[in-house]
Amino acid sequence: MKSVGLISLGCAKNRVDAERILGSFAAVGYQVVQDPAHAEVVVVNTCGFIREAVEESIEEILDAARLKKEGSCRVLVVAGCLPQRYRELARELPEVDFFFTPGELENIPAALAGEPPADSAVRTTRVLTQLPHSTYLKIADGCSNRCSYCTIPLIRGPFRSVPADELVAEARQLVARGAVELNLVAQDVTGYGRDGDETAALDSLLGRLEAIDGLHWIRLLYAYPRPLPPGVAARLAGAGKVVPYLDVPIQHAHPRILAAMHRRVSADAAEGMLLGLQDRYPDLVLRTTAIVGFPGETEAEFQALVNLVQRVRFHHLGAFAYSPEEGTAAEALPGRVPDKVVRERLNHLMEVQAEISHLRNQAFVGRELEVLVDGLDEAGNVVGRTYGQAPEVDGHTLLDNCPEAVAVGAFLRCRVREAWEYDLLAEVLPT
Ligand code: SF4
Repeated sequence: MKSVGLISLGCAKNRVDAERILGSFAAVGYQVVQDPAHAEVVVVNTCGFIREAVEESIEEILDAARLKKEGSCRVLVVAGCLPQRYRELARELPEVDFFFTPGELENIPAALAGEPPADSAVRTTRVLTQLPHSTYLKIADGCSNRCSYCTIPLIRGPFRSVPADELVAEARQLVARGAVELNLVAQDVTGYGRDGDETAALDSLLGRLEAIDGLHWIRLLYAYPRPLPPGVAARLAGAGKVVPYLDVPIQHAHPRILAAMHRRVSADAAEGMLLGLQDRYPDLVLRTTAIVGFPGETEAEFQALVNLVQRVRFHHLGAFAYSPEEGTAAEALPGRVPDKVVRERLNHLMEVQAEISHLRNQAFVGRELEVLVDGLDEAGNVVGRTYGQAPEVDGHTLLDNCPEAVAVGAFLRCRVREAWEYDLLAEVLPT
């Protein structure tokens, strides 16, 4: 039996693609091996979003190329964003046998065998690369927002929603394999259905997902800060399976910067929407991301971002330094902000956020919450997450006096005892 190993880079959305690639190999009889050093076919699923990710992807490709000399690798495949963004790669990386762009991912085994592409109507079953209790459902690909700094529309093309029937079938399969938490991802999750002018599509999809027995939590990640589609806001009340959690990347708050970023929602409108949601749903946990050091960003413009963060008081925030990316509209903008200034602003924003996160977490102390058990941390403590902690990006909840035989994927009723900037400590309550 032939074997395949995978090296995957980038975000959760990319990981879903990688799991689908492995699924397409498994479907034609390949054995999937954990360690790529022992595989005959090695696939590197790349990320090309920003320069740092490109460099990391190239390093991984060169490491994988060594496996052709030192390991059992016979065929090296590079897939995903990088070959789409840099068509000239084939010339520069002769060690690589095949390149596949994001639109071709499920056809890799057929192409390797010299066969015509598989039937695209058949959706491949993913081979999960992480524990199955918490996984991602990618509900769309591409993006039509065309933010001036972003390579995604260039790499992934316009926004395309995955048909709801396919998503529901995939979700059922994931739940049958042990998923109790589904994290819905896309470049613009609340844009779901807009490409087909179906404004109620996301609400309808959420209703169908909520009806799946055995599924416990549904989480929305990456919501563009426009008003939520009809019906979706009410689901954030937490009465059903959609948890009161929303990730809304605001990126900036100053009107000039937002206009230069080609963002389609003003800071006032975004703030109004977020504060309105917080008013209506007091349990709502908000996450955001922000870009610091966009060309020409002045101290006062940066301060406008800090002020908005202080007014909205997001529970979680990820801040990134602006990176000029080849081919984007922002690449040629004058007014590069010196690295030192960008670093200082990033540090300041994260200090402001650390205090807010700490206070937000303190508000959970004494509350009884369900905690989803994720496993053990490096020190051997049982850790899990409350509804307010998304996997991989937010903090954890450490569990005290946890029953020894507790299973990963179990939900435990807990009382929060202590809170830090990122993590919580909770005691498990008797059942
Ligand atoms: S919404 Fe996100 S993915 Fe789409 S162009 Fe803007 S930054 Fe890129």
